[in-house]
Amino acid sequence: GLVLVLAEDLTEMRRVEAIRRDFVANVSHELKTPVGALSLLAETVENAADDPEAVRRFSGRMQHEAVRLGNLVQDLMTLSRVQGDEPLAELRTVALDEMIAESLDRCQIKADAKDIELATAGGTGLKVRGDEELLTTALRNLIDNAVAYSPDHTRVAVATHLPDPDHVEITVTDQGIGIPAADLERIFERFYRVDPARSRQTGGTGLGLAIVKHVTTKHGGEVTVWSKEGSGSTFTLRLPLLRGDNPSSPQS
Ligand code: ADP
Repeated sequence: GLVLVLAEDLTEMRRVEAIRRDFVANVSHELKTPVGALSLLAETVENAADDPEAVRRFSGRMQHEAVRLGNLVQDLMTLSRVQGDEPLAELRTVALDEMIAESLDRCQIKADAKDIELATAGGTGLKVRGDEELLTTALRNLIDNAVAYSPDHTRVAVATHLPDPDHVEITVTDQGIGIPAADLERIFERFYRVDPARSRQTGGTGLGLAIVKHVTTKHGGEVTVWSKEGSGSTFTLRLPLLRGDNPSSPQS
């Protein structure tokens, strides 16, 4: 009866507390790395004051570490906004074509640097209800990953499908390194990385997919992944369509 329920609650509370402590430990570690690097680099620049070439080089690396730190703080803020229980505040009608174009735009520079073609069909006229900034961030994270985990001269495609009259699916498909089957169910966890060295090298915070998962769930949708090592991955965002305001659904 009551005693048993309390014991179960206690176990659950301890589990949640352990996860929270783990997360704080992870965040501290992730913050320590760039902060440590910055302080070392600052010292190096100071000692190299009479060598302009060295100053230029180390300043560049300081900028790089500062950007990494900024990205991590930004992702932590976004995550804390979406992983709680409170409903989303800024719900608007979001035009998918514009949202996709905006997300692709934000990834274009990184794609160009690797000569990766970003492709999309557009012109769907579909709409969903949601927080446009968060949805754009989620889609951008998926496209960013597709670019980061793909070799040069490949292609990343964003497409939309209607699996049923009430939902839309946005897929992001790459021709990249793929994800081992054993890791697939863990990649949406905070700070989980298949290859930590590669993730850091590409500037990843390890929070991108956790943000995607929470943003999608908050919108009443879900995110799924298909992947094959060595040939590529497809991430699918499934979202409820805005009823009565879409070309394919009855007007109300
Ligand atoms: P990160 O900042 O490390 O990219 P994410 O949460 O965005 O963090 O992704 C978690 C991990 O999932 C990555 O470190 C990478 O190992 C794997 N991953 C994500 N997207 C892809 C992809 N498109 N192709 C291959 N691996 C991916």
